[in-house]
Amino acid sequence: DKKVVLITGCSSGIGLSLAVRLASDPEKTFKVYATMRNLAKKERLLECVKGLHKDTLDILQMDVTDRQSILDARDRVVEKRLDILVCNAGVGLMGPLELQSSDSMRQILEVNILGTIQTIQAFLPEMKAQSQGRILVTGSTEGLHGLPFNEVYCASKFAIEGACESLAVLLQNFNIHVSLIECGPVNTDFLVNMQKAELGNTSLQQVDTKTVSLYEKYLQHCDSVFQNAAQDTEDIVKVFLDAIQSPSPTFRYFTSGGVPPLTQLKITEPDGSQCIRAMSKIIFSVEEQ
Ligand code: NAD
Repeated sequence: DKKVVLITGCSSGIGLSLAVRLASDPEKTFKVYATMRNLAKKERLLECVKGLHKDTLDILQMDVTDRQSILDARDRVVEKRLDILVCNAGVGLMGPLELQSSDSMRQILEVNILGTIQTIQAFLPEMKAQSQGRILVTGSTEGLHGLPFNEVYCASKFAIEGACESLAVLLQNFNIHVSLIECGPVNTDFLVNMQKAELGNTSLQQVDTKTVSLYEKYLQHCDSVFQNAAQDTEDIVKVFLDAIQSPSPTFRYFTSGGVPPLTQLKITEPDGSQCIRAMSKIIFSVEEQ
């Protein structure tokens, strides 16, 4: 029997690559339900699989902020069981906190944290009844340490850590493994898709000039990190596969190798000041050009 996998947020990025890889598996190990909020965006996925995978891929509409759409997608899984649930959908929000509207903050929290939890909720009863399963969640190093100008996004990703860790403890009793795939920067549409205060936006005039100049430094840092250190989605997919194929997956996987240095600092220096100083130095001590 094929392993039945459902993935959220498959119209682009990590979700799309993972869906393509699993649906194209040479051994045809997986039946993939690639879900996306907007089915009008399914062409990219279909192009990537070149229409060859009718028996291993199904595309379903699913908006993780809409409980009914989650339940509808669940009901369209013909096998009536799920072996692997991948909660991947997420959005970013970047800029001085003073500028974030309640609506945009609520939107990020609704997709990233409530959306993830709601999705897991919907599949939990079946997975528990089967006494087996995997729940994989796309995590972020921004769920492990803070990043200026990303307060709400970080809050949502820290919240994911807490939700998943809590579930992992309980679900051991049901032979269900929860794993977080902790990503650093990845080359996807994420930066384009996120809500972001752009330099030169008139809205930035509402914030003090010191914050704006620090934001400028942050954006330089961000650009250089994405240029120099961003991973490709294929690298991330390999780590998902490790977790999927491992007989006893661990709770955390770090996509770029070991524990990130700042996360390490949080463990070895638990009062937090060194981590904050180190982060500040990394972000704000950019050489003037
Ligand atoms: P992406 O923008 O290409 O993909 C995100 C996907 O989520 C998109 O397909 C989008 O349509 C979908 N989505 C957004 N709102 C949704 C909703 N309400 N319902 C269903 N789907 C929705 O970016 P990505 O980098 O592939 O992001 C995937 C995950 O990886 C996100 O959770 C993101 O936070 C996380 N992540 C990304 C990076 C990075 O640098 N790209 C780093 C760490 C973590």
